[in-house]
Amino acid sequence: MKILVVEDEPKTGDYLKQGLVEAGFVVDLARDGVDGLHLGETGDYDLAILDVMLPRLDGWQVLAGMRHAGRELPVLFLTARDQVEDRVKGLELGADDYLVKPFAFAELLARVRTLLRRGSRAKEAEQLRVADLELDLLRRRVTRAGQRIDLTAKEFALLELLLRRRGEVLPRSLIASQIWDMNFDSDTNVIEVAVRRLRAKMDDGFEPKLIRTVRGMGYVLEDDAA
Ligand code: CA
Repeated sequence: MKILVVEDEPKTGDYLKQGLVEAGFVVDLARDGVDGLHLGETGDYDLAILDVMLPRLDGWQVLAGMRHAGRELPVLFLTARDQVEDRVKGLELGADDYLVKPFAFAELLARVRTLLRRGSRAKEAEQLRVADLELDLLRRRVTRAGQRIDLTAKEFALLELLLRRRGEVLPRSLIASQIWDMNFDSDTNVIEVAVRRLRAKMDDGFEPKLIRTVRGMGYVLEDDAA
């Protein structure tokens, strides 16, 4: 899942990004309101975390702009202690939750997970399955034929994407935009390597093989036997 963080304070922004990436999310970080709104309008995010006091456009304006562009994603605001009265304003604008600075990262992560469960994705199952492969989205666990498979955060995200869009050939550009952040260098073979590693873990030694390369097109996950 992909999260947009808009935070101008460098240390807080880096800390948020690092923590969320370690928790398995793909994160784009914008350092001011204009860049944040641009990403929010054009990117495909599952959630946004917006600081209120931002240069160029404040957090409220970023939220209003994203809603105006039809973006329905859940939004968590980061607000200073003396701006608590702003909550009313934010609620009117369609914010979903607040966290008062300074906060513990564990608290932020708990709020993020709650919002994601409540959001549009919550209507989907918490487990994704194909053949004997099962992916548990909440526990972030994967099993095949009942055997636990250990995946890195990127491999998990890649498998989740392939499973959500099973049967569809996913071009590398789409995979890059969903799984890697905006600094991804498309000249590298990072995706091939990630797919190869994922396959080695979840297809080697099992039948049927679920991930297929479609030459010149991309990758598809499907159960040929089904
Ligand atoms: Ca700020």
